[in-house]
Amino acid sequence: QSYLNRLRITEPQLKSFLHVSDTVLREAHELDKKINNNEEVGPLAGVLVGVKDNICTADMPSTGGSRILEGYRPAFDATAVRKIKELGGIVVGKTNLDEFGMGSTTESSAFQVTANPWDVSRVPGGSSGGSAAAVSARQCVVSLGSDTGGSVRQPASFCGVVGLKPTYGRVSRFGLMAYASSLDVIGCFGSSVADAGILLHAISGHDRLDATTSKQDVPDFASQLVSTNSSESKPLKGLRVGLIRETVDNGVDTGVISTIRAAASHLEELGCFVTEVTLPSFSLGLPAYYIIASSESSSNLSRYDGVRYGNQAVTDDLNSLYGDSRANGFGSEVKMRVLMGTYALSAGYYDAYYKRAQQVRTIIRDSFKAALDQNDILISPASPSPAYKIGEKKNDPLAMYAGDIMTVNVNLAGLPALVIPCGFVEGGPAGLPVGLQMISAAYDEGKLLKVGHIFE
Ligand code: GLN
Repeated sequence: QSYLNRLRITEPQLKSFLHVSDTVLREAHELDKKINNNEEVGPLAGVLVGVKDNICTADMPSTGGSRILEGYRPAFDATAVRKIKELGGIVVGKTNLDEFGMGSTTESSAFQVTANPWDVSRVPGGSSGGSAAAVSARQCVVSLGSDTGGSVRQPASFCGVVGLKPTYGRVSRFGLMAYASSLDVIGCFGSSVADAGILLHAISGHDRLDATTSKQDVPDFASQLVSTNSSESKPLKGLRVGLIRETVDNGVDTGVISTIRAAASHLEELGCFVTEVTLPSFSLGLPAYYIIASSESSSNLSRYDGVRYGNQAVTDDLNSLYGDSRANGFGSEVKMRVLMGTYALSAGYYDAYYKRAQQVRTIIRDSFKAALDQNDILISPASPSPAYKIGEKKNDPLAMYAGDIMTVNVNLAGLPALVIPCGFVEGGPAGLPVGLQMISAAYDEGKLLKVGHIFE
């Protein structure tokens, strides 16, 4: 009830949710009854979870932030949602996002613009801006987002919450509306590292409905944190940390750089051995990412033809049914991505763009591997700037894309990364949060969570 009250008070200004469930209290009462009858309830019993609206829920609308899916109610739950419900979690509603996850501010939602709780004239980041704002404003306890090129980590940084992008293959994508299938992963938001770890544990694991999920063991991340909660003065003694030099360089906000350097000193105080590492291919990440992500999206979004789901144009002619449904249903950012992707994949350009981008992807993956052979974790800012004003970059897509420089490489390499609040820079009524990104080798989320837990 207290979360719902808070939601009612804050939502008119924040607009984090596209849909709020009307069965939350009934579900909570049912859990209470079970507890009173000494029946078993799951470890997430009564935990309110926000779910990004590109993740399918059987009992609520799922629009992906797009007009083309207005009114669509899937017949099934995404695997991540099913698991949360099985453990007693209550889905409080569907959170706002950039249409199909394409954007960095949540301004590309077809329905509404979400505000940053730290300063409502600023963006919450994106594309999972609704999920980040909802946890930041305590409208729910934890939330799910998706991260194709930074959409969990950058909004976590802008809204001052913890954001976790799991290893590609750790969490089932079944029921996640595909943007770029080789990069997409469902991720977690929480107000603490432990909360994010508990949620990750709940949603991880092999799924026969997603052939790319791994059969790797899923450790009980949260209980591992308890044992590392020591009072030692140097609890991270000997941990080798590499600060990625290219991420504290030209073009990065000076306040962000000094906050990240202060965080690096704090890691040293905790016993870490911090050095600067260079990833020579770092700047190639952005062009490679935008070619691969657009190419995959142009193919994935061909399913929205007005026949199978959502809005359908009224016409007798089949070609205009496809064309008009898509013309009316997609927003301008999505159309631009589909055009760019179709161009990059077309005969004559494929070798010059798509194939080249895949080759660059291999180079990036190798350079991360080399750096992580020498270091236990790598650190960087999660974004080159703090949250900026609503509207500031809306008409300058290149400036918006450039803001993804800190995060896209991690998706190209398929690695896990954790973002935790590490300080503030000036701006807004009370300062603007800055997030520290920590990156580890694949399937080493446990290490990131341990370090993050001690750091916070
Ligand atoms: N901002 C990036 C993009 O627009 C990343 C989005 C995401 O991770 N879904 O593609």
